[in-house]
Amino acid sequence: MILPPHSLGILGSGQLGRMFTLEAIQMGYTVHVYSPDKNSPSCKAGAVEWTGSYSDFSSLKRFLDTVSSLSFEFENIPPACLDFIEEYAKSRDEKFLAPNVHSIKIAQDRIFEKEFFNSIGLNTVLYLPIITGNEDFSKFPMPSILKTTRFGYDGKGQWKFTNAIELKEFLKSNPASKESPYILEAFYPFDYEISVIYARSHEGKEFIFPPALNYHRNSILDMTEFPAPIPENIHNLAISSASLLGKSLKYAGVFGLEFFVAGDELVVNEFAPRPHNSGHYTQDGSDISQFELQLRILTGMDLPEQNSIKPCLMKNILGDDYANSLNLCLELMSKDSRYHLHLYQKDEAKPGRKMGHLNFTGQKSEVDKRFFNLT
Ligand code: ADP
Ligand code: MG
Repeated sequence: MILPPHSLGILGSGQLGRMFTLEAIQMGYTVHVYSPDKNSPSCKAGAVEWTGSYSDFSSLKRFLDTVSSLSFEFENIPPACLDFIEEYAKSRDEKFLAPNVHSIKIAQDRIFEKEFFNSIGLNTVLYLPIITGNEDFSKFPMPSILKTTRFGYDGKGQWKFTNAIELKEFLKSNPASKESPYILEAFYPFDYEISVIYARSHEGKEFIFPPALNYHRNSILDMTEFPAPIPENIHNLAISSASLLGKSLKYAGVFGLEFFVAGDELVVNEFAPRPHNSGHYTQDGSDISQFELQLRILTGMDLPEQNSIKPCLMKNILGDDYANSLNLCLELMSKDSRYHLHLYQKDEAKPGRKMGHLNFTGQKSEVDKRFFNLT
């Protein structure tokens, strides 16, 4: 086991690294974060900040030499950097990395990801890789969504089409190629979206939260309701799907797995090989948070047998109307201790940028209705 005050490493230094840092520092660890950014949210929470490019392998090596184990806060890491880290990890303890590079490479490419899901028996939406531009999509169902295969998040790099002519026009001016492929997905008419936060230790011990219900606005997660008020069969299917994915990847660490649900049918959408925005309810609606789970896996501490949860609503706070949102958060908090504010200390508030979130540990029927207006 890695004991405090040993140093733990995170690749990336945004809000997820920050919330990991807060957990780790509370338990007496030192955290080192690596990214091209300066004065990052993680650094402001007390992490030692390494500013360097993901292709500067000599700087990366010095960073890796400093830490006892390494995890990640985002998946869009250049493949050459991942290869370097995988090779480097062979010189260290076999539990140095959590998760393994294989899992990150699958998660960072929407085509690999869907192929992998299908290969282990998890259903996905119908899809077609668009790589050469010569693919025949004349019979593909409409409406559909075209997505870049890599580097997409919060709905970025996605376009919806209602007919094949529009799609053809789009691809004429934005041609697909091996370097910039797309995936075409049939639009899935879901009733609702859920996600599961899953953790697995190096020894294969699992810790799985009940599903949470997710509400999106402009393709960005807006609110999460935990636990999701859903039928038992969907609940069980979501949990067994997450477990199957974790075992199939020989996963160590935390991931968030997203689903679309229509009636009795559940399809997997995507997974993120790290703590997930839709899992922030774990900070106040559970004795153990997704970041503490990530910390335990990185240090070799066992995952708990027992845990208690309570209902929690999580609302994202974006940079669009930041001053008003903050005022409202403070007003709600001044009246009721069930509101818990988490801000990321980002330098600048921009439209669509995630600045923080507000958790409410109570039933949806009890929350102040103005909570829903936070943007
Ligand atoms: P991101 O990486 O941006 O989160 P997602 O694939 O999860 O990408 O898409 C963001 C959101 O867009 C989803 O949560 C869902 O609301 C909607 N969406 C994406 N793909 C589909 C689809 N095939 N059918 C219906 N809605 C979709
Ligand atoms: Mg998503």
